[in-house]
Amino acid sequence: MTNSLAPARLRVAPSPTGDPHVGTAYMSLFNLAYARQTGGAFVLRIEDTDRARYVADSEQQIYDSLEWLGLNWDEGPDKGGPYAPYRQSERLETYAPFVQQLLDEGHAYYCWCSPERLAEMRKAQEASKQAVTGYDRLCYGKTREERAALPGFSEKPVVRMLIPDDVSLVFEDLIRGQVNAPRPDDQVILKTDGFPTYHLAVVVDDHLMAITHVVRGEEWISSTPKHLLLYRWLGWQAPAFAHMPLLRNTDKSKISKRKNPAARLMWFREQGYLPEALRNFLQVLAYPPVHPDTEVASFEEFIAAFDWAKVNTGGPIFDLAKLNWLNGFYIRSLSPGELADRIIEHAIRTGQLAKAPTEAEREVLRQATPLIQERMVLLADAIPQLGYLFVADADLVVTPEARATLPADAATTLDAAVAALEGLDAFDHATIEAALRASLVEGLGLKPRFAFGPVRVALAGTTVSPPLFESMEILGKVSSLARLRALRASL
Ligand code: GLU
Repeated sequence: MTNSLAPARLRVAPSPTGDPHVGTAYMSLFNLAYARQTGGAFVLRIEDTDRARYVADSEQQIYDSLEWLGLNWDEGPDKGGPYAPYRQSERLETYAPFVQQLLDEGHAYYCWCSPERLAEMRKAQEASKQAVTGYDRLCYGKTREERAALPGFSEKPVVRMLIPDDVSLVFEDLIRGQVNAPRPDDQVILKTDGFPTYHLAVVVDDHLMAITHVVRGEEWISSTPKHLLLYRWLGWQAPAFAHMPLLRNTDKSKISKRKNPAARLMWFREQGYLPEALRNFLQVLAYPPVHPDTEVASFEEFIAAFDWAKVNTGGPIFDLAKLNWLNGFYIRSLSPGELADRIIEHAIRTGQLAKAPTEAEREVLRQATPLIQERMVLLADAIPQLGYLFVADADLVVTPEARATLPADAATTLDAAVAALEGLDAFDHATIEAALRASLVEGLGLKPRFAFGPVRVALAGTTVSPPLFESMEILGKVSSLARLRALRASL
């Protein structure tokens, strides 16, 4: 889709430090929407320069979860592209000359201060309640030999930015307009291990990858003045910036993986949310609904209507009740066959089903899905509700709670039910219902609740099950009768 806007290049740049955070999907959604709206490109870059926090399988999880959500990137480590490599650890030689240039031009300097010395410095600053904190520039202007003569020296230096007094602290944000940020510290840009820090790598890569719009979380607002300095020093045009609001828990605290399982992107898949429901939910988290009367909108509709100015900066609340509603909505929009396939895929992946169902079992599930589709919230709801359709008659367990609901005359009821069904030639739900009503309600004079309660317990082993007569049709005559007889015999 294109319009009059120039094709934009946007990126999401997650760090593989563990289970992907839901914020990564949230950022991807907005980046992708704008890339698609302008007919541009969406890049996935892996920012793995923090080796201490690196987690090996995290990168694959990022691919899997974004792909599951249908947030597809055009360029990335796994796909390649004109600006490869897209993994920062493979770009170390790319960053080195820029660090040297900044050193040569006096915008950066070596720092040999040991971690112990920096900790002491910070402690002293806190104790004296100094107004200006941050690195005290002990190393600035010193040669290695001069610095080595002082305490707290470590062999391997880092490189720091020399933040000028007149650093600009104001910048334009596409969402927020003019933004004020605090004065930065002399930021480390190259670490002792030879890896750049995020701040240098992000600027170099965004420039070299021709990124036109940097869209990221609001926690990066305070870093933007440093990034703008680097653009200026390196003689590059800075991209446009948009800082998205942080997602919040209902108590307004920031969503973190420690406190909220929903912060883990994989959690939604494990629970049985549909990707289209989660995507729709992320669309309306900090953005007004596309349509005036409903929050339901496809990604295509969202893209067509997208406008940065409409992003709401008040911390969007992560309201699972809304997500559950959307999930139910999307579940009801699927054809029963498609829903059954998704239930099976989910059940196998999460271990709800120990092995892939046989073709006959799949067929049972396809027939049973419409019975529960209306009431389902999560894919995970289906198998527990339909499990009784899959067990062998001899293995069906009648729960003690269900047994306790049986009335004193349950034996008579079950005998009558068996007698009424035995003679049936057709075994469709309408015929079953007519036969049981004639025999139990009219014949024995039972109220429907007492008439069908014991039948349900016999068939499903529990008191709650999907519609009874439809379930019996799916189970078939032989199974239905076997189960009625088994409960009768146990009384
Ligand atoms: N690697 C950073 C993160 O994980 C990316 C921030 C940015 O988009 O500039 O949040």
